[in-house]
Amino acid sequence: MVSRREFIQKSTLASSTILVANSLESFVVIDSVDEDELFDVIIIGGSYAGLSAALTLGRSMCKVLILDGNEPCNRMTPHSHNFLTQDGVAPGQISAKAKEQVFKYETVLYYSTEVEKVDKTANQTFLVHSVEQKKYKAKFVLFATGLKDMLLPIKGYADCWGKSVIHCTYCHGYEQINRTTAILANGDLAFHLLMLASPLTTKLSILTNGQANFTVEQQNIINKKGIKIIETPITELKHKQGQVSEVVFRDNSNLQVEVIYSRPAVIQKCNIPSQLGCELTEQGLLKVDNQQESTIPRVYACGDMTSFRSIATAIATGSAAGRAINTQLCQLDFKS
Ligand SMILES: Cc1cc2nc3c(=O)[nH]c(=O)nc-3n(C[C@H](O)[C@H](O)[C@H](O)COP(=O)(O)OP(=O)(O)OC[C@H]3O[C@@H](n4cnc5c(N)ncnc54)[C@H](O)[C@@H]3O)c2cc1C
Repeated sequence: MVSRREFIQKSTLASSTILVANSLESFVVIDSVDEDELFDVIIIGGSYAGLSAALTLGRSMCKVLILDGNEPCNRMTPHSHNFLTQDGVAPGQISAKAKEQVFKYETVLYYSTEVEKVDKTANQTFLVHSVEQKKYKAKFVLFATGLKDMLLPIKGYADCWGKSVIHCTYCHGYEQINRTTAILANGDLAFHLLMLASPLTTKLSILTNGQANFTVEQQNIINKKGIKIIETPITELKHKQGQVSEVVFRDNSNLQVEVIYSRPAVIQKCNIPSQLGCELTEQGLLKVDNQQESTIPRVYACGDMTSFRSIATAIATGSAAGRAINTQLCQLDFKS
């Protein structure tokens, strides 16, 4: 097993070869890592949260391996908003810039792959298995694997998702000001989205896609504001390249719209934390303490899988996880 300093020298050699090229693919350096290497941390998921943690860890000279499926949840949205300094920038550009900055740190290695299993070993380490049947060892594991949106099975919905069917007023609402807007939801969620969309437009209707389910108080407020509720099930969203123009209902009636707010159910994108025994919250997020440590010691998690969905939060929780893991590593090293 190599020491931290030897590892740093070794990975500096590997990264100096790859940093000369411009393509992000050139950062894939894993072939130079031997399977006996013991990493301080393996980060599973190398999007905003994982990269943020890697930045904090890399700056503390921790030996980090990022294994990333490279499928961030916002990849279909043309522009990302509400993240300071990057407002209106394409999601891929934000992560490209992040990678450019993070991979400068010579102890951080990145490999584009899916992780399929993580085992706890008898000697307090973790064995991480990639789909290529490679195995990597680490003292800590950090999950930054995000959430999966369970898109509604309505024709055209998936094509419009992230473009004109949007889940969040903070991310994309400002761009939809005064547009003809539908809330595709029911009950408390519909009422909540309606409340958030109301300052942005008065051209609002609610599509419950089945029998409406509002409290008397909610129904009274909706009536008082003159907002129409349509209960007829939806068969199709007509659109041009993801820009919705019309909702078609089962009875062949239709509604012209320019934007739809819809927040489908989410599940954990990766169920390995649950397989390891990590607990979930009632909302299906991974339960973590205020240091981002899960209910299993030395297994950490950050980003969407643990908290409110935004790039800013993903980066904040990633940084917090990086800090907490590094503190634990320093405590272990310093006392030994
Ligand atoms: C359509 C849409 C639009 C959005 N727009 C905005 C916006 O404008 N502004 C904003 O602030 N937020 C926006 N968000 C929210 C934002 O995208 C998320 O908060 C952010 O992407 C969370 O980052 P993350 O790193 O936690 O997860 P993700 O970005 O989802 O990344 C998770 C990573 O983990 C990898 N992964 C998962 N499982 C494995 C595995 N087993 N092995 C290896 N890798 C794995 C994935 O491939 C992926 O690369 C939007 C979300 C959506 C869905």
